[in-house]
Amino acid sequence: MPEDMNDEVETFAFQAEIAQLMSLIINTFYSNKEIFLRELISNSSDALDKIRYESLTDPSKLENVKDLYIRIEVDKNDRSLTIYDTGIGMTKADLVNNLGTIAKSGTKAFMEALQAGADISMIGQFGVGFYSAYLVADRVVVTSKNNDDEQYTWESAAGGSFTIKPDKGQPLQRGTKITLYLKEDQVEYLEERRIKEVVKKHSQFIGYPIRLLVEKEREKQVPDDDEEEEQKDEDTSKATGDKPEVEDVGADEGADGVEKAKKMKTIKVKYTEDEELNKTKPLWTRNPDDISEEEYGEFYRSLTNDWEDHLATKHFSVEGQLEFRALLFVPRRAPFDLFENRKQKNKIKLYVRRVFIMDNCEDLIPEYLNFICGVVDSEDLPLNISREMLQQNKILKVIRKNLVKKAMELFEELLEDKESYKKFYENFSKNIKLGIHEDSTNRKKLSELLRFYTSASGDEMSSLKDYVSRMKENQKQIYYITGENRDAVSNSAFVERVKKGGFEVIYMIDPIDEYCIQQLKEYDGKQLISVTKEGLDLPEDEEQKKKSEEQKQRLENLCKIMKDILDKRVEKVVVSNRLVTSPCCIVTSQYGWTANMERIMKAQALRDASTMGYMAAKKHLEINPEHTIIETLRQKADADKNDKSVKDLVLLLFETALLASGFNLEDPGVHAARIYRMIGLGLGIDDDDVAAIPDDISPLDDMPPLEGEDEDMSRMEEVD
Ligand code: ADP
Ligand code: MG
Repeated sequence: MPEDMNDEVETFAFQAEIAQLMSLIINTFYSNKEIFLRELISNSSDALDKIRYESLTDPSKLENVKDLYIRIEVDKNDRSLTIYDTGIGMTKADLVNNLGTIAKSGTKAFMEALQAGADISMIGQFGVGFYSAYLVADRVVVTSKNNDDEQYTWESAAGGSFTIKPDKGQPLQRGTKITLYLKEDQVEYLEERRIKEVVKKHSQFIGYPIRLLVEKEREKQVPDDDEEEEQKDEDTSKATGDKPEVEDVGADEGADGVEKAKKMKTIKVKYTEDEELNKTKPLWTRNPDDISEEEYGEFYRSLTNDWEDHLATKHFSVEGQLEFRALLFVPRRAPFDLFENRKQKNKIKLYVRRVFIMDNCEDLIPEYLNFICGVVDSEDLPLNISREMLQQNKILKVIRKNLVKKAMELFEELLEDKESYKKFYENFSKNIKLGIHEDSTNRKKLSELLRFYTSASGDEMSSLKDYVSRMKENQKQIYYITGENRDAVSNSAFVERVKKGGFEVIYMIDPIDEYCIQQLKEYDGKQLISVTKEGLDLPEDEEQKKKSEEQKQRLENLCKIMKDILDKRVEKVVVSNRLVTSPCCIVTSQYGWTANMERIMKAQALRDASTMGYMAAKKHLEINPEHTIIETLRQKADADKNDKSVKDLVLLLFETALLASGFNLEDPGVHAARIYRMIGLGLGIDDDDVAAIPDDISPLDDMPPLEGEDEDMSRMEEVD
């Protein structure tokens, strides 16, 4: 059997979206192609991080190759550019999965972003940076060796498929070699000068040496002796083993006849040598006074693959019992998958005495600060620390505390510039709110960062501090309402009286506000009170108080009748002090969910039915004592409390109030039937023919079975 019959070449189809992305990359006209090199170097750096991390607990993992580096080589003969690293490498399965068959959420997100005007250079942020190789190459060959597998080669000239085959070529020991066969018009990337320029621009802060195999030439005096011309170059540089080419330059004319022993000549010797392109000292070890904004920006970009500079930064060191340095950044934008990416917990890289240890170390920073990027370099941690050991590590706890403290300072500094802060808040308000929910130590500080629209704020958002400064003299509480959007809350019946009384209401329209407010019970010694919950205590003068008392007495009986009719649907029926134009509204008990929260919870697939049962908003019906509907209803009910139409009207009022207060109707059909009947009545049609309310549907069906539910109630919807 011929040898190459063993080399089973397997062909795979790219996952559909990846294939689409590749053809997009190949066909889009785009001039800033140089970023491909940044992406490939960044992948190499990640792969080196991984093997370094594994070797911390198992030093034998490095046995094959100890030197951790990246190397770039060009071959002008076949127009190829190769990036080689001694990182973790890929097994056959890794090659198949990571370079083409496993769908990634970023693929689609990136294509959508491009459609929306994003730039191709953003590719790295979407986790598909590898494919940027096809910006400059029409064929890419990846050879890789992982400790757990043989050496394999992946190859693709795009077109929807790639091949994998065992590689019998020069053994890599460990690592990955990516060879790009450049397109005809991309030969600039074979030029040393151009490569150096691109590496300096995008990758100078990579934490492993990036070596470029460069060709050098140097003059040398040699005895003008033909026999010695083959003498080997005894250069001490880190030569690569290539035989030096010896060129004969300017062999002296007329040299003949001069005595041989003293005769010397100058030759130029060509040799190749590895040149390190990123010799910069790690930025965080330098004195902040000597670092320019530009350098911070470059460092940030190379750390994060971001295409824009950071929004703010904090560079500091802690000394004393414990020593570490840190450099933190706030990005300009939230990543597309800020709260979805379960794999990546945060973006802080942990170093120990300049040696990279790991990224994504959960215990380094709380989840709500997961958008902060940066590095931490500890003097005290052991080099061979593992993730498990870190969990109980006291040093790490102190570092974490300091990072949080510095992050708070950073946010405070951001407040000084209105535009920057606005940008920050647009992108990271969810994080701040999550922080209020989770971090009781910093809750107060974080609450200063909150911004909301209010009934008095107009188009600018307002801080709680500003709200308090505008509070009326007799106002003791801070009023807020939660809801779906600004229009819905500002038009809600709940806000009516509060606004009419001259009080300001905060609009909380982000779903996460509901969670945030559960923990933020007060600000500046003032209680935060939802205008949709019971216990709203609007300041009243003596006259108002007396009037309210009278109204309460007058409507006491109606409240009782309504409660009897509505039964378990509501906890109680009371006279309201918050309504102006609406006849009634539904408020929820202080500790239950609001209508908005009920909406959010129902939308979440995770909830189980039983939680809904006891957590569901406990509803109170509040009636407007000054509304003619209520007054007329009172007269009707006082005249005959068993009047059928009273029952029907009360139910209709209740259902309508549910809707107006932001709840969903469990059974809109029953409500609709009631409305049709009202329309029928309005048109003078005999009600039986208009809309029979189906008797198999009862609005109580959705509630947990209740003990002693009265017979009369459940049949009530039947039309007489
Ligand atoms: P990302 O780097 O964001 O994961 P890429 O498209 O750049 O996305 O790379 C895809 C995957 O391919 C990487 O996650 C990694 O598993 C693998 N990979 C790419 N380059 C290398 C390399 N030089 N060494 C080892 N694995 C690599
Ligand atoms: Mg990448």
